[in-house]
Amino acid sequence: MATLMVKKRLSSGEACPKCLQTEALLRRRGLWDAIDEVVWADEDDPSSPGMVLARKFGVAEAPFFVVREGDQEHVVRSALKLIRDHLSLRGAVQDASAGPADGAAAAGLLRGAEPEAIVRWALERFGADCTIAFSGAEDVVLIDMAAATGLPFSVFCLDTGRLHPETYRFIEDVRERYGVAIDVVSPDAAAVAALVREKGLFSFLRDGHGQCCGIRKVEPLGRALVGKRAWMTGQREDQSPATRAEVAVAQDDLRVGTSLLKLNPLARWTSADVWHYIRAHDVPYNPLHEHGFRSIGCAPCTRPVHPGQHEREGRWWWEDATKKECGLHLGGRDD
Ligand code: SF4
Repeated sequence: MATLMVKKRLSSGEACPKCLQTEALLRRRGLWDAIDEVVWADEDDPSSPGMVLARKFGVAEAPFFVVREGDQEHVVRSALKLIRDHLSLRGAVQDASAGPADGAAAAGLLRGAEPEAIVRWALERFGADCTIAFSGAEDVVLIDMAAATGLPFSVFCLDTGRLHPETYRFIEDVRERYGVAIDVVSPDAAAVAALVREKGLFSFLRDGHGQCCGIRKVEPLGRALVGKRAWMTGQREDQSPATRAEVAVAQDDLRVGTSLLKLNPLARWTSADVWHYIRAHDVPYNPLHEHGFRSIGCAPCTRPVHPGQHEREGRWWWEDATKKECGLHLGGRDD
């Protein structure tokens, strides 16, 4: 496949502003290298190659794109349509049945792709061997996108035993809404009993949350991922400036070995993007969000935040901001 971009050159000799904006968009998304050739349409020269292509395809406005595949060629008038349909996942469909992807290769392939396209790519490649980690609002956005593909997928959630009653109801709402089986994974009962016997029910307030999260979240997560080839999370890089500023769209999962691919399709989305999607698609959400809770985890470790506070200020507020992760998300950004 070859992709041509037709840009308009004004009588002044400068490129038209809209063409420059479009080029900037493609560069921002790391997709400029996917444009194989720039063809100029000179405003004052009807015989210039770009003007000839504009007449051939009946296009009145620049920029536009010509995609050539074999002896077929067709015109694409919008950069966003070009990104969605041709650039971001170029090669992915042909490669959909291949084995596990390398994290860096997947990150390169998915660079600039919209979340829906990343979800589709993962499910075409891995099907139900790709599991969605469900706990919060972002994760239901992923489930909604996955359900819209019509492709097989799987979902799990970690029941720490300390969730709010509203969260349990929310899990059921999602199950009913999407008709999807949700694997509810519990912590090892003996390990929880030993911790509680030795340190009580609120050891995290004294010792930090590492040990309790290790037993109630991290170990069960490892079990939930056994036999999977990929997992998807709703992590975003703006969730925690201290710990999530380097969230990759795709990466090898360093905890359980490089054969497992971890995808974060919403890495580049903001909280506002997530909530815009939730409203636009009538996606179910935890009712605690209507009571000031923004990032929701276990009941004793989650509190509402005030307007203007960062969402992570409602989690483990008695600890240093750089430690506000529970050990579920390891690995650096490689895209
Ligand atoms: S969030 Fe709190 S209660 Fe939940 S597993 Fe971690 S430390 Fe334990």
